Amino acid sequence: MLTTAPRGTKDILPQEIENWRYVEAAMRRICAQFGYKEIRTPVFEHTELFKRGIGDTTDVVEKEMYTFTDRGERSITLRPENTASAVRAFCEHKMYAEPAPTKLYYIGPMFRYDRPQAGRYRQFHQFGIEALGVDSPAIDAEAILLAVTILKELGLKDLHLKINSVGCPNCRPQHRAKLQDYFRPHLEGMCSDCKSRFERNPLRLLDCKVPHDHEIAAGAPSLEECLCEECREHFEGVKKLLTAAGVDFEVDNTLVRGLDYYTKTAFEIQYVPLGAQSAVCGGGRYDGLVKEIGGQDVSGIGFAMGMERILLALESQNLLPEHKDGIDAFIVCPNQDNLEAAFKTAIALRQAGLKTEFDFLARSMKAQMKQAGRLNAKFAVIFGDDELARGAVTLKNMAESTQTEIPVDDIVTILQTEVQKYE
Ligand code: ATP
Ligand code: MG
Repeated sequence: MLTTAPRGTKDILPQEIENWRYVEAAMRRICAQFGYKEIRTPVFEHTELFKRGIGDTTDVVEKEMYTFTDRGERSITLRPENTASAVRAFCEHKMYAEPAPTKLYYIGPMFRYDRPQAGRYRQFHQFGIEALGVDSPAIDAEAILLAVTILKELGLKDLHLKINSVGCPNCRPQHRAKLQDYFRPHLEGMCSDCKSRFERNPLRLLDCKVPHDHEIAAGAPSLEECLCEECREHFEGVKKLLTAAGVDFEVDNTLVRGLDYYTKTAFEIQYVPLGAQSAVCGGGRYDGLVKEIGGQDVSGIGFAMGMERILLALESQNLLPEHKDGIDAFIVCPNQDNLEAAFKTAIALRQAGLKTEFDFLARSMKAQMKQAGRLNAKFAVIFGDDELARGAVTLKNMAESTQTEIPVDDIVTILQTEVQKYE
């Protein structure tokens, strides 16, 4: 038990880290192109923020939050997503005082009491963006384009983008009534969540994962018929710009996001080959959220991508670049009397920017040479007694198996030049 991580969590090991960095670097690069700036918010917040910001009728708030009382008797929740926190920060730091839009992105761990399986964990990581303060459909289209650009840049094909409009407080009452009329005769046979959400938020019934309920939801009346003029126009605007940008999409009238604050645009990107956990990105507009958590009436749009799912997808398609690990120099020092000199040389080489290692275990000369090979060292710097007596060391080029004697005082300058030949 003590040597096993909690269920639903996992270590990201040194051999996996390069893959994470590679994906994160692509995200950061493209965010910079699109004018998004990074924000890092706390991993825990007041529970109330998520209750308000995500909504009481969502799976996340009803079943998935890691909530506890801290020693000061406050109810605290590990963030299950980052939008509510980003919006909280937007209000707290009066970002609305700057010219709109405020464009933010984040990468970090999120926590949900989900049922662990491939692509679904209890601590997982999301990359996401939030753009606040713009009503125009152009920012919706730009956000979707940003998501698509990142996934394509990483090399993923077979992406399936679904979009919908979930309306706004003007048109939702009409849709709500229609949905209730549709679901009422089926309700008896539906799950307890659906029953309890029928009155509170019938839109949620479209999102039920229970297969039987899902089938019923597929026949529900389309949201599109109920959209008010403003929402319809907005939706048309988004579609027009996506088409102009050459982005393929499918309109899916049953698509509602899992979170209550969404208005107008909702979208999801699936990576079909992932199977059951195929959703790699989900997002949409949340014009009511900033006000809901106590800020001004400021609109917003954002999305979140699951890092683990993207990495799984890249791995399965062999789209992750090979990373060649290696160091510049390994100092071989078989005689412990020379350890101090070797140690100082390592410091000097590192200060000169060279990746340097040496032996900590008083291994034999042969074992140290083997370690230099294992670490993929370009050069071995051998502190042998004979050479040292002459004020020199042996420099061995590991790839070419050639060696020369060089003066101790010149180790740093010579290695710097030699290593550069390989860059
Ligand atoms: P799902 O229907 O798969 O539970 P969701 O609607 O709960 O997804 P969002 O809240 O929209 O997901 O989160 C955005 C993205 O974060 C998802 O598309 C997915 O890639 C990822 N994600 C969500 N929950 C998990 C999890 N438990 N483990 C790994 N990734 C996750
Ligand atoms: Mg979920």
